[in-house]
Amino acid sequence: MTVALMTEMSQMLFAHDAEVSLAAAASLVNTGRGEAELLPDVAALDDFVTRWGWTGSRAHDQAELDAVHRLRPRLAGFWEMGADGGAALVNALLREANALPQLVKHDSWDYHVHATSPEAPLADRMAVEAAMAVADVIRSGQLERLRICAAPDCDNVHVDLSKNRSRRFCSTACANRVNVAAYRVRRASR
Ligand SMILES: [Zn+2]
Ligand SMILES: [Zn+2]
Repeated sequence: MTVALMTEMSQMLFAHDAEVSLAAAASLVNTGRGEAELLPDVAALDDFVTRWGWTGSRAHDQAELDAVHRLRPRLAGFWEMGADGGAALVNALLREANALPQLVKHDSWDYHVHATSPEAPLADRMAVEAAMAVADVIRSGQLERLRICAAPDCDNVHVDLSKNRSRRFCSTACANRVNVAAYRVRRASR
């Protein structure tokens, strides 16, 4: 994970690794939610994996990319279902990947939880990391923080880690677009 992302999530509602995992899961879901496919090929997946600091083994093949594509609509379920559905999905993802939580230190990271081995398939590791993070969210009663962007023309998901639960948009681009549109309406009605 980059330093910029770490400081962006400074508030620490959840354990740091859980917050990073939630942001990574949202970003992964969003690669398949817009008009354009943002993970069209293995090279794009390589970039995504590097950007989000994933370590562990990689296949760099079409099967790996297909498995990641199949995972996205399942992870989107966390943003679409309530706590019961979300809990069932957490359990299913952990079970399917034979998750076994272990505290580990590696590279420059202090102790955090890995529930899969570094040799597990990338999509399994992504699924389990997201499931472990959402487990934290659900058991602290914070699932409403997983939101869909309020911009009418955007379907992206995001994670509201703000103190007053006020984040409505997936990005400043969406917030600005909606604010400009509202301003124009106000000005036209004057
Ligand atoms: Zn790690
Ligand atoms: Zn948006």
